[in-house]
Amino acid sequence: MKIAILPGDGIGPEITAQAVKVLNALGESFELESADVGGAGYAAHGHPLPQGTLALAKAADAVLFGAVGDYKYDSLERALRPEQAILGLRKELGLFANLRPAILYPELAGASTLKPEVVSGLDILIIRELTGDIYFGKPRGVRECPDGPFAGQREGFDTMRYAEGEIRRIAHVAFQAARKRDRRVTSVDKANVLETFQFWRDIVTDVHKEYQDVELEHMYVDNAAMQLVRAPKKFDVIVTGNMFGDILSDAAAMLTGSIGMLPSASLDANNKGLYEPSHGSAPDIAGKGIANPLATILSAAMMLRFSLGKAEQADRIENAVKKVLAQGLRTPDIYEDGTTKVGTEQMGDAVVNAL
Ligand code: ATP
Ligand code: MG
Repeated sequence: MKIAILPGDGIGPEITAQAVKVLNALGESFELESADVGGAGYAAHGHPLPQGTLALAKAADAVLFGAVGDYKYDSLERALRPEQAILGLRKELGLFANLRPAILYPELAGASTLKPEVVSGLDILIIRELTGDIYFGKPRGVRECPDGPFAGQREGFDTMRYAEGEIRRIAHVAFQAARKRDRRVTSVDKANVLETFQFWRDIVTDVHKEYQDVELEHMYVDNAAMQLVRAPKKFDVIVTGNMFGDILSDAAAMLTGSIGMLPSASLDANNKGLYEPSHGSAPDIAGKGIANPLATILSAAMMLRFSLGKAEQADRIENAVKKVLAQGLRTPDIYEDGTTKVGTEQMGDAVVNAL
C-alpha cells in the first residue's frame, strides 16, 4: 500500500515526521513517499501543487497531509498561494466527504470551555459535504435588486443547490461510518425554510431504508447548534451540508478546547482519502519543536481505518495516544499543572513506545 506524505509548511514537517515514525513502527510494509506542497511546493517548483505532487497523490492509496500556509507567501497572487494546494487536491481527487471527529479524552477535560461533566468523554463525528451547497452554486454575484423595498439598489446573491446523487453519496458515508460507531446519525438541515434542505431531508430518509440497523434523526441547524453546546454527548454521527458543516465542525472542535488533538479525513467515492490535522500550519510556533503532533498521528489512525482497511492498527494508535495522555505527557498547548511538558519529538517517541 502506497501512502503519499505531504508535509507542507510551518509545523507541517515536524508533525508529519512524528506520524511517519508511528506508521513505520506498526510493522506493516507501507510504501511511504514524500513530496512538496503549499509554500514548500511553490519554493521548490513554482506552484503550491506541483505536477509531481499531484501525480503522487493520485497514485497513492491515501494521502497524509501536514498543513500549508505561511506569512511569507501572503503577497503572491491567489492562484499561487499555499492554500490553493488543498483546494486543488480536494478537486483533483474528488474528495467530497469531510470527516471531523471531536473527541475529548477524559484527561483533557479541563481544556474545554464547557463543564467537564458536559464534555468529558465526548466522541462525536461530524461529516460535512464538500462539493455542493451555497459555496459553489451558480448564478452568484452582485446585481441590481429586481424588487421589494430595495429595488434598484445593488444586491449580493448566491445559489444554494444539492444534486440528488450528491446527497445520496454523503448519506451513505454517514450511515456506513455510524455502523463502525454507535449506529446513530443526526442529519442536520433547515428543511423548514429552505427547499434545498427539504430535498436533502427527503433523500437522506430514502437512503436510510438501506440502513435500518442505524437510527436516523433529523434536526434543524439552529437546534443542532444549541444541542452541540448544551449536551454534545447525545450525538454520535452528524451529517450535514457544506455551510452548516463548516460552522458546526469548528464549534465542535472548540468543545474539546484543544486544536492540537483533532484529526480529519476527506474521502472520495471509493474511500480513498486525504488525512490531515484540523489545525493549520501554526507559523507562530514553527521550528520550535513544541507543536502537538497528536492530531496528525490520529489522522494517520483515521487513514488506516477508513482508507487502508486496517482498523486494528488504527485502534493500536488510538490506544497508544490514550496511554501517553494517561502517563501525563503534554505538549504546551494542552499542558496543565501536575502534568509533564514535552516537545513534538518526545511526544512522537512516547506514542511509538506506547505501541
Ligand atoms: P488555517 O487558516 O490554516 O486553519 P489558522 O490561522 O486558523 O490556520 P492555526 O495554524 O491552526 O490557525 O493556528 C491557530 C493557533 O493554534 C496558533 O496560535 C497555533 O500556534 C496554535 N496551534 C495550531 N496547531 C497547533 C498544534 N499542533 N500544536 C500547538 N499549537 C497549535
Ligand atoms: Mg483556521
